[in-house]
Amino acid sequence: MPPELDPLLFGEIDPPQRLLMGPGPINAHPRVLRAMSADLLGQFDPEMTGYMNQVMALYRPIFGTRNRWTMLVDGTARAGIEAALVSLVAPGDAVLVVNFGRFGLLLTEILQRIGAVIETVDAPWGEVVPMERIEAAIARVRPRLVATIHGDTSTTMAQPLDGLGALCRAAGALSYVDATATIGGMELAADRWGVDVVTGGLQKCLGGPSGSAPITVSDRAAEHIGQRRHVERGIRGEGAVDGQGPRISSNYFDLAMIMDYWSEKRLNHHTEATSMLYAARECARIALGEGLEARYARHAAAGRAMTAGLRAMGLTVFGDDRHRMTNVTGVHIPQGVDGEAVRGAMRELFEIEIGTAFGPLQGRIWRLGAMGYNAMKHKVLLTLAALEACLRMEGFALTLGQAVPAAIEAWEAKS
Ligand SMILES: *Cc1c(COP(=O)(O)O)cnc(C)c1O
Repeated sequence: MPPELDPLLFGEIDPPQRLLMGPGPINAHPRVLRAMSADLLGQFDPEMTGYMNQVMALYRPIFGTRNRWTMLVDGTARAGIEAALVSLVAPGDAVLVVNFGRFGLLLTEILQRIGAVIETVDAPWGEVVPMERIEAAIARVRPRLVATIHGDTSTTMAQPLDGLGALCRAAGALSYVDATATIGGMELAADRWGVDVVTGGLQKCLGGPSGSAPITVSDRAAEHIGQRRHVERGIRGEGAVDGQGPRISSNYFDLAMIMDYWSEKRLNHHTEATSMLYAARECARIALGEGLEARYARHAAAGRAMTAGLRAMGLTVFGDDRHRMTNVTGVHIPQGVDGEAVRGAMRELFEIEIGTAFGPLQGRIWRLGAMGYNAMKHKVLLTLAALEACLRMEGFALTLGQAVPAAIEAWEAKS
């Protein structure tokens, strides 16, 4: 066995202090890490169920909703996505996916496994789908569900969602939005958008680790899911009745069971991931303590500063300017520059991580994030100064010292 794999020689975890300025995950807020080290409780301890109720209350304003069913799915953001889709969609249901990047493709992949009949309305990477095209697609497809992404980090685009819910309701469709990349960083307005189910994650703008997926479910979606309720006789409470609809095929991601667990009935399902619940609770307390408006403005300032700094270096920012996310910025890798060499130098010399890209954008753009605890002026400035130095080292002709002043000015500017 090579010595580095001898278990007796493994040291205590002591990772390097990297500054994570990619598309997520990012560095967790120290208060979140402290909350996670708090003592554990039994899952039906009144203190624990009290914290669960607090989490429900904390996440309603963050989602922009008054939905009763606002809670956590245990797992990474993808667990929230899968719970939403498997609970809302039965095999054979028509689903319209509004697709403008990699995470739209992920929705279609999960829906395929469910056996949905999938139609997509697409935009090229770097653009969003105009609402008129969504409206026309709904009229054509007559879907049971319309599913989309709010901010797709793969393309750095934010899909406008005002009016989506009304279109879906008028057509008798439910609606789902993956807001993992924007929750806590750009405004979520589940009620104003009129959308039924929205899910998120902690590791982007909420400044936590990955591993918990906040979710909100409208009453009408909860009723639909309740129709698909599956009762495990003898295991679950007496008096519970099976729903009439087609059963939800997953146990772990069965939102009817998860809602029963988060309800006053406290019907046992999984064991709530205690330390992750503490983390999610602290993430939300920090966000609400800062004030959501102030927090969105801080992310917008960080995005403006990042963009201005990149442009001042002579780089070209990726995508439709009108619809770029504030918290992650794509930038073209200049001709003749080895993108991976620059990322390597950023990491080795400055302990800063920036993101690569997927699919059609792989090798073409880098993605620079400024989210949650990292959407701070000094972290954006450090990243830009470091990138300038690394680009110059890798042979890109630029005048050092342009990016930081441009970023400072843009940070202070009114949006
Ligand atoms: C980052 C991201 C995810 C990530 O899901 P995980 O399971 O937490 O890795 C999902 N959706 C979007 C839009 C994202 O940006």
